Parts: sequence; C-alpha cells; structure tokens
Amino acid sequence: MSSLAVIHAAQLVTLAGPKRPRVGAGMADLAIIRDGGMLIRDGKIDSVGPSDEIEKKSRGAEIVDAGGRVVLPGFVDAHTHLVFAGNRLDDFERRAHGESYQQISKAGGGIWSTVEKTRAASDHDLLLQAKKHAEWFLRCGTTTVEAKSGYGLTVEDELKILRVMERLNKETPLEIVPTFLGAHAVPREMDADEYVELMLAQMLPRIAREKLAEFCDVFCERGYFDVERSRRILTAARELGLRLRIHTDQLSNSGGAKLAAELEATTADHLEKTDGHGIAALKSAGVQPVLLPGSVYALGSPDYPRVREMIEAGLAVVIATDFNPGSSPTPSMPMILSLACTQMKMSPAEATTAATINGAYSLNRGEKIGSLERGKLANFSIFDCEDYRELAYWFGVPQTHSVYVRGKRIV
Ligand SMILES: [Zn+2]
Repeated sequence: MSSLAVIHAAQLVTLAGPKRPRVGAGMADLAIIRDGGMLIRDGKIDSVGPSDEIEKKSRGAEIVDAGGRVVLPGFVDAHTHLVFAGNRLDDFERRAHGESYQQISKAGGGIWSTVEKTRAASDHDLLLQAKKHAEWFLRCGTTTVEAKSGYGLTVEDELKILRVMERLNKETPLEIVPTFLGAHAVPREMDADEYVELMLAQMLPRIAREKLAEFCDVFCERGYFDVERSRRILTAARELGLRLRIHTDQLSNSGGAKLAAELEATTADHLEKTDGHGIAALKSAGVQPVLLPGSVYALGSPDYPRVREMIEAGLAVVIATDFNPGSSPTPSMPMILSLACTQMKMSPAEATTAATINGAYSLNRGEKIGSLERGKLANFSIFDCEDYRELAYWFGVPQTHSVYVRGKRIV
C-alpha cells in the first residue's frame, strides 16, 4: 500500500461540505485549513487536517512539503471541445480586423473549417493533437474535463472523435467525460431534418450501444437546432440512457433554458442571453448553469451571463473554459477564474467552487472528485502562491507548482 503525506499548505482549500452542489452563500464557503495537510493511501484521500496532525499519522509515508503554498482540488472543467484538428488562426486575425462572424464564415472560416480538417485527420493525428491539449489542461491544474464531439457530423467521424477520447482516457492522466454533440451544426451536405433523422436512426443508437458517451448535448440556437429539433434529439438520447446538457441562449434568448428545465437536463450552458424567466425555469428543475466567460472574452463581446441573479436564485453555478479553436482557445481555469471575478463579479471563493465541486456534480462525479475529503480521489494541485485568491488576481501568470492525479505527481 503506497501512502503520501502532503504537509504545510499555507491554505489547504478543501471545499469540504454537504454532499450536493453548493448554492447561495454556500458557494463562498471553501472550508480552508491553514497550515493544512492530507494523508493519501492508494490514490485516495485518507485524512485531511492541520499539518501537525497529519504528520503524526504519516509514518512510512512519502512526504510532500507544500512549503507554504496553496493546495486546491484538481479543477473540473465541465465544458470543452477538446478533440479537433488544426486551429482557427485566420479567423482570429480576421476578427481582430473587425470582420463579422458571417464574413469570416464566407471566407472559409468558422466551425465548418474545423469540421473539414477534423474529417480529413487520421485517428492517429487527432489523438496526437488531443494529447497536446490534455497536457495543457493538466499544466493549468485541471484533472477532469468534459469533452464534446461535434466536429465530425457524419456517423463515422463522430465515432472517430469519441474513440479518440476513449484512448485519451486510457493513455493520459487527464480524466475525460465524453459527450456526444452531433447536433453542433447542420453539415453542409444535408438539411436539418435529414441530419436529425441520421442522428436518431444511426448515431445515437450506436453511441449508446458502444457506451461512447455519458451525455448528449445540442446547440439549441436560431440557425442551428431550433427548440423542436433539440427536444427530439435530447428526448431520444434520454431514452437511450444518456444524460443531457444544452448549449443555449448564447446568441439569442431562444427558449433553450426552458427546454433544459422541461427535459430535466443536467446542465444548460452559455446562457449569455438568458433572462429572469429562464433563470426561474432552471431553478425549478434543478438544472446547473455552466457559464463560459472565456468565449465572451475571446469574441470581444460585452455580454457576460447574469451570474449574480443566478446565485441569488439559488442555482448551483459552474464555470468552465469552453476550450475550442473558434471562440475560446484556452484550457486555463485560472484565466476563467480571473474573468469570472473581473467581468461577472463572482467572488474568488464562488468562482473556485464553480470550478471544482460544482463542476464535479454537473458531471455526475460529485461523490468522487471536486473537493479534498476522505474517500475522494487524490486529485489536487499545488500553486506557487500563499492565498487562493492570487490565482484569479495575477492573471496570465503560470502559478502551477505541481499537479497530482490519484496521488501520483504528473506535472
Ligand atoms: Zn461549447
């Protein structure tokens, strides 16, 4: 039996608390232990407490002296598009010159250009690029990510992306939670109804049979999948045993928040345009909002979601990177913490909760990860600072000292 004792954390940010997502004032309670430590046995947390108590219990254990640094649970990034080929550098430069999304799309950019590159890429090349992305996440202190398909849009290409995720899960320390997002865009070679039929008749049954995804997601937005088509896809997915997430209200208040409530989706994501009625609907059904300030920032938009109203309404808010090549090319949760505090006016403590334990619950893993408590996986990071608030404060500064997954140092 291997054991490891972490001692002398200036702040051991445990997020210990009730066994449910945190809401309201509870989002600001991080249960910090000063000069804290924890004992780890066989990859799981055995005990957490003041350093001197942990030291007494740690005979024979390998000692990790955190040296007065901050220790946090591994970040849980509950919304990413991790597997894709290439990049969107040309779109990035065009946007800098003030071109609109429509102009960029016409010039051969936009999501379709990533679909074409991803279809053309071999499994091997996709896996190689995804491994590079996984390495980035780990180096930023993220140990679990949700990852969506959606750059294939054919049966074979969607399966190819989901299989790359399966291999990534086996071949890197980053834990991947796979989501099928076939309904990311309508492929150019067919119309929306034909494509929905293809998803219902072929994609979803195969993905469910081969257990390639835990969640199904839909881009519910004017010009993508309207509420009626989104409902058909998500209802079929639910019947096959998948849990639900929805991209919605990003560009317009499309009624997707209400659809998420109606279908009892686990999460509704983006929500930049969601109003008070949408917030009330999410609350009534216990849907978790997943907010993505990185995409608002990278698109140069002033419209951040109304997080203060959501917290006041008692929603268990999650923040995530939305890592993708078009609208949010960042794997950095510390950057998202900074945006959450400066642009959305979350407190550093609320943002930390939204990036760890609440993310874990939104991925159906709240019992296993997201906090430093007895019995949970020993997924944690040591940061080169003395106060957890420094992570959001010193933006753009790499502060990762080391990262552990299941008690093993991997960064
Ligand atoms: Zn997204």
